[in-house]
Amino acid sequence: MLTDYHLHLRLDEDDRPPERSAFTTENVEGYVAAAKKAGIEELGCSEHVYRFTDALEIWRHPFWEQQARDDLDAYCEFVRTTPLRLGLEVDFVPGAEDRSASLLDGHDFDYVIGSVHFLGDRAVDHDGYDIWETEGDPDAVWRRYFETLAEAAGSGLFDILAHPDLVKMWGRARPHPERDPRFYYEPAVEAIAESGVAVEVSTAGLRKPVREIYPAPAFATMCVEAGAAFALSSDAHVAADVGHAYESAVSAMGDWGIEQIAVFERRERRLEPLG
Ligand SMILES: [Zn+2]
Ligand SMILES: [Zn+2]
Repeated sequence: MLTDYHLHLRLDEDDRPPERSAFTTENVEGYVAAAKKAGIEELGCSEHVYRFTDALEIWRHPFWEQQARDDLDAYCEFVRTTPLRLGLEVDFVPGAEDRSASLLDGHDFDYVIGSVHFLGDRAVDHDGYDIWETEGDPDAVWRRYFETLAEAAGSGLFDILAHPDLVKMWGRARPHPERDPRFYYEPAVEAIAESGVAVEVSTAGLRKPVREIYPAPAFATMCVEAGAAFALSSDAHVAADVGHAYESAVSAMGDWGIEQIAVFERRERRLEPLG
């Protein structure tokens, strides 16, 4: 079984009304056709929570204020008319756990993907709010990133943790800590093991400056040793990226000792043989 659950129908910079561009049968058909070609049986979309006006009840970051235009109910209703599983990519906002839970409880998702893009009001993957402009110490950034990821795992809000080492996204274009990265991974892996949340293997990193799958092999093998479950996704924002570089991902997962992947329906998880 192969899955691609972390998909966006909407391009980040697409400002057209979604019912005319992103959330259309024609657009979904492109994703479904690409999945079929790549041998992917389970497909789902997970639009960013901050695209929806409801998200402003969770957080009022200037980026969210600028992005929050779509209607979450309309998105959910549309996805249910397609063959896609219904997911959502939700930023973990420390302190907003109750508000996040009530937004999620109000909808019938197949799965919820938790992400850490922001540390405070600065982002690890967005140059408009770049954390490295205000924090120069890579030890502090990496430590805080993985501690926040641990909190996200422990929150119980999510079925899958997205791109688990996103902090490396800029590769050599940003400072890198000197310490063995396993030191930073440790609290996150411990929280993942305790919570049972699935860890996403994402080929999106190959399309970013770091040119590496998320997570790094050391992070993945620590999760395997801790007994974690895994999900597989491309984080495509266009149909052409569905199943991107899955041969490398599946072979890496084999090397790391991953034999099964997580499949979700109405927030129930089962494990299927990978491949
Ligand atoms: Zn993300
Ligand atoms: Zn995403």
